[in-house]
Amino acid sequence: MARKKPHINLVIIGHVDHGKSTMVGHFLYLVGAVDERTLKKYEEEAKALGRESWKYAWVLDKLTEERKRGLTIDLGYYKFETSKYMFTIIDAPGHRDFIKNMITGTSQADAAILVVSAKRNEFEAGYALGGQTREHAILAKTLGIDQLVVCINKMDAINYDKAAYEEIRDELKRFLAGIGYKVDKIPFIPTSGLYGDNLKEKSKNTPWYDGPTLFEALDSLEPPKPLVDKPLRLPVQKVLKIKGVGTVITGRVETGVVKKGQEIIIEPLGKKTIAQSIEMHHEPLEEAIPGDNVGINVKGIAAEEVKRGDVVGPVDNPPSVIGAGKGTFVARVVVLWHPTRIYPGYTPVMHAHTLQVATTFKNILAKYGPKGELVEEKPEYIQKGDSADVEFEPIKPSVMEVYSEFPPLGRFAIPYGAAENGMMWLLGGEKRYGSARSGGSRKGGQEGLRVLAGTRSGALLTF
Ligand code: GDP
Repeated sequence: MARKKPHINLVIIGHVDHGKSTMVGHFLYLVGAVDERTLKKYEEEAKALGRESWKYAWVLDKLTEERKRGLTIDLGYYKFETSKYMFTIIDAPGHRDFIKNMITGTSQADAAILVVSAKRNEFEAGYALGGQTREHAILAKTLGIDQLVVCINKMDAINYDKAAYEEIRDELKRFLAGIGYKVDKIPFIPTSGLYGDNLKEKSKNTPWYDGPTLFEALDSLEPPKPLVDKPLRLPVQKVLKIKGVGTVITGRVETGVVKKGQEIIIEPLGKKTIAQSIEMHHEPLEEAIPGDNVGINVKGIAAEEVKRGDVVGPVDNPPSVIGAGKGTFVARVVVLWHPTRIYPGYTPVMHAHTLQVATTFKNILAKYGPKGELVEEKPEYIQKGDSADVEFEPIKPSVMEVYSEFPPLGRFAIPYGAAENGMMWLLGGEKRYGSARSGGSRKGGQEGLRVLAGTRSGALLTF
């Protein structure tokens, strides 16, 4: 059987009107993901309106529209492939849910394409305080998207000017380095989404550019490590007490594999048991893999003992327990919205995997400015718009994991109230405590601060 190509999830980020839809539509066409006939149709429609340049953006808009009307449910995502990878664009531009989806983990991106307009006033707008070039980049980094491809777009509008490109590239490099990106690894591609420069083929309009095209840049991304190769983690959704069967734990396998007959441990309960049988859709299974929603029959454990938010793992690599004196975690967070200042001691409800637990802002370690620069050590408070490193402690023993090892168990959000379009997310962040090897590089005085959790890893801060 042919080996399937590794899969990479992409998000497209950047300021409104910087040309994201146009670029993605054009790119999908160039890589053959949209057929000629469909594009012709859009072209004619666009021409009739005297706006021919809209045809590419329409590729996305139309698909989104159809999806809304329920016509193409399976076309919820946009797929294409390069020689090495399968790609899914998991959030098309214009989806206002992008931020929420990323925080809650509905969609986890492995890489982002940041589209930045090179047109003078546009570049500045995206980059000003509150601009989305800046906001999206900070958020992407906060949420653990470490791989970035930058398109300096609308080069046609500035006559493919090398000097202007370089100026913007250097400005972006400084900013992205400031928020923690390894800028030497990031391609900065001069593009025109409208005319297709450097999307698939090298452009004759930019002879001075010797880097990759967008297509080539995507081909050199790193695919995520398959979650099936990691230790088992199954956050508990529901626990059932079934007559004649006993206790059945239900939930989705997030990482690793659970096999029938395997010895497992449930944390923070701390009890070991055997996965007597595994069922999915009323069919017995020999084993379950990431993505499977299963029920596991366990013996010797009362249904009342296990709770939603508990996590099943293998006995030789149990889920990490923190909270209530068992450990804290440190995360970089962004306060997207909150009506008041936030001081240490504040204890709102945190959501992570199936867990909901009141969690205390124990220490605010450092506050960062809009360019990701350190503004203040140990600030008294943080507020809307701030990003900060915060030490958190759940008030009850809880399972959370290091994001880099177990992405689905390392993300969290703290919702505040409800807004028009669903939840208003106060904070998005990820739990980060790394090994002694990767840690210790942090500037600004917290080096060596011990995170009490993570006994397996040695637990030095990774920032
Ligand atoms: P989005 O909001 O980032 O998705 O941006 P759109 O793709 O909708 O484009 C916004 C506007 O910029 C539209 O009027 C496009 O026609 C125009 N535009 C998009 N890409 C380019 C480009 O490469 N060059 C020029 N000159 N204009 C572009």
